[in-house]
Amino acid sequence: KEKRYDYLIVGAGLFGSVFAHEMTNRGKKCLVIDKRDHLGGNVYCEEKEGINVHKYGAHIFHTNDKKIWDYVNQFATFNNYINSPLSLSKGKLYNLPFNMNTFYQLWGTKTPQEAKKIIDEQIAQYGVKSPQNLEEQALSLVGKDIYETFIKAYTEKQWGKKATELPAFIIKRLPVRYTYNNNYFNDIYQGIPIGGYNVIINGLLDGVDTKTGVDFFEDRIELESLADKIVYTGKIDEFFGYKHGYLEYRSLRFEHELHDIENYQGNAVVNYNDASYAFTRIIEHKHFEFGKQDKTIITKEYPENWDRSKEAYYPINNSRNQEIFKKYKKESQQLEGVIFGGRLAEYRYYDMHQIIASSLVKVEEISKIKPQ
Ligand code: UDP
Repeated sequence: KEKRYDYLIVGAGLFGSVFAHEMTNRGKKCLVIDKRDHLGGNVYCEEKEGINVHKYGAHIFHTNDKKIWDYVNQFATFNNYINSPLSLSKGKLYNLPFNMNTFYQLWGTKTPQEAKKIIDEQIAQYGVKSPQNLEEQALSLVGKDIYETFIKAYTEKQWGKKATELPAFIIKRLPVRYTYNNNYFNDIYQGIPIGGYNVIINGLLDGVDTKTGVDFFEDRIELESLADKIVYTGKIDEFFGYKHGYLEYRSLRFEHELHDIENYQGNAVVNYNDASYAFTRIIEHKHFEFGKQDKTIITKEYPENWDRSKEAYYPINNSRNQEIFKKYKKESQQLEGVIFGGRLAEYRYYDMHQIIASSLVKVEEISKIKPQ
């Protein structure tokens, strides 16, 4: 039977949308389906009161890779937003990431030497040689005060586990800086697409057939028969009917609130680092685009245990889950005609720029095997 499409792409997030765009440019026919009623996956923004609401959590684009930066800039103009979150802990506000401003607010230290002395003393007192868990890792990197003010409670809320039961690697990327610099990311390119992320998704999927509100698993045989090959970006364990066991995820619940004031917190992101709040942060969306609307929309982010009725946001890459994932991965590599990509199918804590890069690599690989 003649297939109508070269590729059926399951999931309209960044991996699938980039793949569809590139293959369409190479003369392939693609159909993108998504079970949600919109395209874009978790980067989707919902416009309310003229504000682009990051419905599935804050997305701040950053990369060091000029190629990826140029790639996204084909589809949208980026503003000069720089992520400089604040932290509220035990009634006081601090700048993040940990830098000279934070140290001044915490200890009153004014010079890098003064701050470094305190941190080094605390590392010497509380740190360990080979950290076995997140708590030991954090104490060895930043000492006790920073750990207890900013890390312990936040991390335990975020992951729903004691810091002593979490793997050390989660915290490895927390930067400590001895300059007065509140830029959260170290990357050279950063910003928010003007008009929101939908502008990019619409650009990528321009001229591509799309269908929303379609659940792959409800109509799998019929859908698979439409195309030569499948690109699958959903949960890898679900694709294989959970035959090697369930992979675990961390979920999030978002509480969106409309406030009849112009400015709620004066910053896009405020982390709530102590245990007296169940949410980890409040996002005020208008500040991502320097909005001047009369009203404002804020979102409280509550980490949640995941079950199959909930959205999977973060893979939990502990040894139990990695063992199970290995089995699915092996099976996926033996399967012809199906490509697996993205956060859920690769079970990896990817950022946006990394997803785009991995999708472009995949397209290159395939195009090399079969020259056009
Ligand atoms: N973290 C923390 N305090 C903070 C921010 C982050 O302890 O104020 C830790 C926490 O363990 C978290 C990790 O750093 O899981 C990564 O946080 P980040 O905000 O970079 O990741 P995101 O959740 O935005 O992907």
